[in-house]
Amino acid sequence: MVIIKDDDVVELAHGAGGKVMDSLIKNFVLESFVKRSISKSIPFLGEGVGLEALEDGGSFQVGDFEIVVSIDGHTVKPVFFPGGDLGRLAVSGTVNDVAVMGAEPLVLACSVIVEEGYPLKDLKRILDSANATTEEADIVILTGDTKVMPRRELDEIVFTTAGIGIVESGKIVRNSGLKAGDTIIISGTIGDHGVALLAAREGLEFTTSLVSDVAPLSGLIREIRNLGQITAMKDPTRGGVSSALNDLAQSSKASIWIREESLPFKKEVKAAAEMLGIDPLEVTCEGKIIIGCKAEKAEEILDTLKKNKYGKDAAIIGTVKPPISGKPLVVMETSVGGKRVVEKPIGEPIPRVC
Ligand code: MG
Repeated sequence: MVIIKDDDVVELAHGAGGKVMDSLIKNFVLESFVKRSISKSIPFLGEGVGLEALEDGGSFQVGDFEIVVSIDGHTVKPVFFPGGDLGRLAVSGTVNDVAVMGAEPLVLACSVIVEEGYPLKDLKRILDSANATTEEADIVILTGDTKVMPRRELDEIVFTTAGIGIVESGKIVRNSGLKAGDTIIISGTIGDHGVALLAAREGLEFTTSLVSDVAPLSGLIREIRNLGQITAMKDPTRGGVSSALNDLAQSSKASIWIREESLPFKKEVKAAAEMLGIDPLEVTCEGKIIIGCKAEKAEEILDTLKKNKYGKDAAIIGTVKPPISGKPLVVMETSVGGKRVVEKPIGEPIPRVC
């Protein structure tokens, strides 16, 4: 039982994808929902991935298939940012959460909550962008909802998307699937989305070429999924690569060893992150995936990723090993030959990036 004091309040870090958010979800949110069996209520359905697994989505079985469901609210600021906008982000975020579980995304449900006084032309631009992204991802918006809140009771607009996807039974990809000896790949450069947003907010002049990587990755994931031997996948969104690798290590009860010199960064991202005093490994990516696979398949997966425009900068970044003294740590072998533990961040260092 969590003890809540009268003056305890929700803090920004509670939504920032790091250790503070983990504790809110594990000690507070999960406690509110009693675990119920889906097959007990509906006998022809089977159990899948439950809420307590804290994966990118949940699932249940229907006959020979598993249905994957995921939901995400998006509150990015500014709504239009270098390389994308709220509409593209809202569709891509949920498509990617469904796809990293090994499922084919099929349909979306959308909820838009907008502030009174918001320019209709901007709303139209967001919706058109969302629509173009669904076309690219080859999915359908099946249902939606629109609400308006009085002026100053909401900051501009919140766009929530829920997605449903399907995968053959037994082929779902879990965070817990990594085994010692597996190879870790990232599909491209790290930190582009968060750093591009922050640099735009701060008005850094040398970063005009820096754009968000926001993109729907279902096509890219389909290509590598068909090669088989993928043991885990995760999109490094809030809390970035540091958070995603720690989640994979913890769920898989393994350690992940990454090599600093293998990590792909755009030089503008490195420079801007340094100037702004943030670690780009902890920053949100919106068009990247971390993939765990059997070592013998790694080169083929890497080649396939590199042929796709969203995977051209893909790189093998590390290896999975047994836990270290029983702990599922992420360890970086640094460029100067040292080793350091990559901790899960307290939270995303930049607020309102997704
Ligand atoms: Mg995710």
